[in-house]
Amino acid sequence: MKKTACRTVCLALCAVLSLTIAAGCAEEPAASRSGTRYLFDTVITVTVYDFYTDKYYRQTGRERPDLEAALAGALDLCEHYDDLFSRTKAGSDVSRINASAGQPVEVDPETADLLQKTLSYSRLTDGAFDVTIAPASTLWDFAADDPALPDLAELAAAVEKVDYSRLEVDGNTVTLPAGCMVDLGGAAKGYIADRVGDWLESQGVDCYLLNLGGNVLAAGGKADRAVDSPEALTPFAIGLRKPFGTTSELAGEAGIANGSVVTSGTYERCFTLDGRLYHHILDPDTGYPVDNGLDSVTIFSEESADGDILSTSLFVLGPQAGLALAESLEGVDALFLLSDGSRRMTSGLTEDADGDIRWQPA
Ligand code: ADP
Ligand code: MG
Repeated sequence: MKKTACRTVCLALCAVLSLTIAAGCAEEPAASRSGTRYLFDTVITVTVYDFYTDKYYRQTGRERPDLEAALAGALDLCEHYDDLFSRTKAGSDVSRINASAGQPVEVDPETADLLQKTLSYSRLTDGAFDVTIAPASTLWDFAADDPALPDLAELAAAVEKVDYSRLEVDGNTVTLPAGCMVDLGGAAKGYIADRVGDWLESQGVDCYLLNLGGNVLAAGGKADRAVDSPEALTPFAIGLRKPFGTTSELAGEAGIANGSVVTSGTYERCFTLDGRLYHHILDPDTGYPVDNGLDSVTIFSEESADGDILSTSLFVLGPQAGLALAESLEGVDALFLLSDGSRRMTSGLTEDADGDIRWQPA
């Protein structure tokens, strides 16, 4: 090759190289922050993302969110709700209601709001979900090193006190007869996820993934690098745990950009005694763990409060009645995993060959 030709080729190569480098620099990385706490008796993880380019913020006039501050506020909010809804923390609204011995108690408006929500689901499910389950649920210790069954006479007396119709919520005043108690364990995490989502959006964060002990709430979607518009985001892949598998073994996966995925399963809080499994989802009529051939129920819904309450409710109702109720609710879909390995799902869900679930609410 002649010297001049060689120089031309070299220059051209350099130009291509510098263009590639320039293009590489223009690709902005996405930012994220994540925080974990142990609250509500479980691990909670909040992850916030900023997937947008400078160009997006210039064009929309929006301000880039402060992820650090938004995350800190979200975790503080979780602690605040734990202070209100915990059954075991002294001074929480729930503790004060449970110690009220029939006297009216003034509670935070959000506690009243959540109790009202549980009551409406109790009516809808004819008591399959009962927030006054506490006299029975407190007799079980699923985390004990040496677990034992509750005293049967005590359990029988306890279920006499389980009756949501005796819980009165009038404005912010709550009245519950002596001996009755509330337990928000089947409802609080979903409600909190929704409120944390509201907080993040108020801070300009519109992409986030919350996992409050299996209550997942997703917003926005994800990208590998920063993008110029929300339309370029793709759904988050939410793993659906395989009952009794390791935490990484999946029964399937669901692609969710915006929405809630909540699972109630027999394998989360449970023990085995004399070959029989005892778990934390209780039949309000007997105070005993529900035994209806189900391993888990996963609810897909817009709001996580609905998903949390319904996952527990439909578990108690069982695959048949549960499926029928989920089918009747707009924007709600349900996946039932049965102990025999089979699965049933509502019409808004489809399953591909890999067992992955696609959610298209009607
Ligand atoms: P997790 O707490 O693992 O997310 P769930 O959302 O299904 O699971 O809630 C189970 C919890 O709900 C129990 O630990 C108990 O506190 C409460 N609970 C159990 N049975 C019922 C029921 N029939 N109605 C209302 N709450 C219940
Ligand atoms: Mg629940």
